[in-house]
Amino acid sequence: MTPSAAETKMQFLFTLRAQGVTDKRVLEAMERIDRARFVQYQPERAYDDTPLPINCGQTISQPSVVGLMTQALNVQPRDKVLEVGTGSGYQAAVLSQLARRVYTIDRFARLANEAKAIFEKLDLGNITSVMGDGSFGLPDQAPFDRILVTAAAEDPPGPLLAQLKIGGIMVVPVGQSNAVQSLIKVTRNDDGFEYDEIRDVRFVPLVEGIGRE
Ligand code: SAH
Repeated sequence: MTPSAAETKMQFLFTLRAQGVTDKRVLEAMERIDRARFVQYQPERAYDDTPLPINCGQTISQPSVVGLMTQALNVQPRDKVLEVGTGSGYQAAVLSQLARRVYTIDRFARLANEAKAIFEKLDLGNITSVMGDGSFGLPDQAPFDRILVTAAAEDPPGPLLAQLKIGGIMVVPVGQSNAVQSLIKVTRNDDGFEYDEIRDVRFVPLVEGIGRE
């Protein structure tokens, strides 16, 4: 017998909690946003705690990693957030439930457009989907209260650090693309930047320039 939709959802939330996603607001946001809408292939695996392939050779992140990154970002209701690496749009949709405004940027026009179409369909009016090289941030809309990078950089990109407000938080996976990376939380204070390591992760690399697909 296949589990009911309610059972599947309960199991999904149970797994998130077991993986350390305990923030109530984050869990509520992830309960509201249906990951199945963003999974482009293998819809039957939408609620498994696993990354899945999407267009342009990229991946939709593992739900527990989305939860832990969102939790570490500690988004406040009035925040303006930048996400670098739109991919499927799932992470941006989760952020849209917690922030005033979300800007999300991807180097592939196809991914930026596909995500935009889903945001429109789901009536997520506080997300702006942009195509471009997010390693330079989004100077027009800077500074940001929160920045989330969902592709791995060797170091936190300088332009992104510069576009973070004082008191702001950035979460970014750092390390070589073919190795295990560390998820880092960067807090900007009056004197500079503070770095905390959250956990090991694996992300696709942050690539400079515009994608050709
Ligand atoms: N957050 C996504 C998953 C991200 S996968 C989700 O919720 O589904 C990483 C994404 O980063 C890919 O879509 C890739 O195209 C994008 N990316 C890599 N380098 C980039 C860059 N320099 N600027 C913008 N996007 C980039």
